[in-house]
Amino acid sequence: MAENRAQRIARFIEPLRVRPGSTVDLATDFDPRYKADLTKAEGVALLAEGVELLDEFQARLAAQDSRGVLFCLQAMDAAGKDGTIRHVMSGVNPQGVRVSSFKVPSEEELDHDYLWRYQCRLPRRGEIGIFNRSHYEEVLVVRVHPEYLRRQRLPEEGRDPDVWERRYREINDWERYLVENGFSVVKVFLNLSKEEQRQRFLSRIDLPEKNWKFSSADVRERRHWGAYQRAFSEMLSATSTPWAPWYVVPADRKWFARICAAAILGHALMEIDPQYPTVGEQARKDLMTARRELEQEGPGSGAARDRKKKRRK
Ligand code: ATP
Ligand code: MG
Repeated sequence: MAENRAQRIARFIEPLRVRPGSTVDLATDFDPRYKADLTKAEGVALLAEGVELLDEFQARLAAQDSRGVLFCLQAMDAAGKDGTIRHVMSGVNPQGVRVSSFKVPSEEELDHDYLWRYQCRLPRRGEIGIFNRSHYEEVLVVRVHPEYLRRQRLPEEGRDPDVWERRYREINDWERYLVENGFSVVKVFLNLSKEEQRQRFLSRIDLPEKNWKFSSADVRERRHWGAYQRAFSEMLSATSTPWAPWYVVPADRKWFARICAAAILGHALMEIDPQYPTVGEQARKDLMTARRELEQEGPGSGAARDRKKKRRK
C-alpha cells in the first residue's frame, strides 16, 4: 500500500524525536547540519506543501473548537526562532494563532510561582499557541545563571540542590495535565552549532540592515555555550515524555529547520484530526428555510459558484 501523507510526515520527523527515557548528549546525538538528503529546492517545495497543510488543519481545529495546540520553541540566540515562526505560520489564519515571547521576568511575574506567566498565555480551545521561548527557560537560563533563581524568592526548601529535578517533574506533570485536558504540547529545540552562531552574529554586525538584531548580551551569553549545552542535554533527557516528546531540529540550515518545524506541527494536528462540526436535524431544516428565502429574491448558484472559483484559482 502506498504510504499516505501522515505516514510520510511521521517517518520524516522520527529521527528528530527524543525517545522518552533516553539520555541525550547533544554534542554526539544530534547533528545541527543534518538535512535528510534533501536539496534546498526540494526543501522549499516541501515547505510550501507543509504550509498549505497547516492552513487546512488549523481551519478545522478552529471550527471544531474543542482541542488546542501549544507549540514551544527553544533555542540559543540566532538559531532562527523568529524566522521559523514567520515562515511556518505564513499560510494560516492569524486569528487562530497566538504568539507569546518570554523575556526576563517582570516584578509582577516574579511575585508569582514560576509557571504562572506561561499559564496566563496558554492557547484557547481551537487555537494554536506559540511560545517563543517557554517555561523551559526556567531550567535553562535560570540554571546557567543562579542569580535568576535567587530573584525568584523561593522558600528555603524550594532552593535545595534538587530544584532542577523537581522542576522537570513539575513541568512534566503540568504538560500532562494540559494534554489530558485537550491541549497537545509540541516541543521543538532548534539545534544550532557554535560555529554557525558565530557566523550569524558576524553577519548581524557586518550588515547594517541586520544590526538591530544584534545585542552585545548575545555574545556574553555565548561564553556560557558549554553550560547551556549541558542544561539542554539534561532537560531533553528529563522532559521528553510519551505525552509531550521533544524534537531536536537541525538548525544550521534555516530552510531545513523550517520544514522540520512545519512537519512536527503538522503531525500533531493530524494526530488530533479535527473535523468540521456537522449540523443537526433542526439546524439543517433552518438552513433549508433560509435557502428558500434567498432563492425567492433571485437566482443564485451557491456551492456551484464556489467550486467554479476554486477551479479558476
Ligand atoms: P530576539 O533576540 O530574536 O529578539 P530573544 O528571545 O532572544 O529574541 P531577547 O529580548 O533578546 O529575546 O532575550 C530575552 C532574554 O530573556 C533571553 O536571554 C532569555 O534567556 C531571557 N529569559 C527568558 N526567560 C527568562 C527567565 N525566566 N529568567 C531569566 N531570563 C529569562
Ligand atoms: Mg536575543
